[in-house]
This record gives sequence, structure tokens and C-alpha cells, in this order.
Amino acid sequence: MRTLLSLLAIFALAFTNLAQAQDKVEITIEGNDRMQFNMDEIKVEAGQTVVLTLKHVGKLPKAAMGHNWVLLTQGTDIQKFGAAAAKAADNDYIPEDSANVIVATELVGGGQETTIEFTAPEAGTYDFICSFPGHYAMMKGKFIIE
Ligand code: ZN
Repeated sequence: MRTLLSLLAIFALAFTNLAQAQDKVEITIEGNDRMQFNMDEIKVEAGQTVVLTLKHVGKLPKAAMGHNWVLLTQGTDIQKFGAAAAKAADNDYIPEDSANVIVATELVGGGQETTIEFTAPEAGTYDFICSFPGHYAMMKGKFIIE
């Protein structure tokens, strides 16, 4: 009986650890000097804590080839948002008071990286972009929450 209880305890502990591990997901996405992200699709689960690192693997400075990672609400008009973002140089190309931004990293230049942590919203397909002027046409992808 004692053995059985021990086994159950171990099993419960293992299960708890597994559940905790799935609560958090770490993602690293790279941006380069050719205006590209290294992934165009990221999948997470609703409610998960997402620890996302944006790594600029290029050499160009922020003023010439800055990158950020911006997660947009569903239904955002990317061209319209991109145009508004281009005018927000003072705010790292994130339009102030924008209702379209779920979360965004800071803007980084070559050799720099930045990390944000957020909770994945409800299930669905969202767009992510780099909002540096002109980049969203190439630097974009789908953030899929299951
Ligand atoms: Zn960029």
C-alpha cells in the first residue's frame, strides 16, 4: 500500500511538472539586414506565457535597419497600421494609443536583442510584423494560438 501511494505521489508530481512546463513557451525570432524574419509562423496555446526574444542578427544600426516584433489584434489593416507606425518615429514606430497593438518589443539594431513576456490571448490567427517604415511588407507572419 505504501509503495502504491509513493508511486501515485511520484506520478502526480511528474504530471504537475509537465503541466507547468506547458504553461510557458520560449520563442526566439531573428531579424537580419535583408529585412527578413527567420520565421513566418509561430504557434502557441491560449493562455500560455510567451517569452519572446527578438534577435537582430545583422550589423546595420537601428536607424537604418531597426526591427521590432509587433503582435496585432485580429482584423487589423496592416497597411493602414504600417502607415501610422511610420509616422511614430519618436515612439519606436509604435503609434501612440493604438488599439491594434496587443504587445510589442522595443526597436533593436544589429547585434542587439530584446525579450518580452506576455500571455497569449484567445485562440485564433493573429498577424505579427516589424513596424519599422517599409518593413511590414516583408517582415510579417502569422501568430497562431490554438
Ligand atoms: Zn524591421
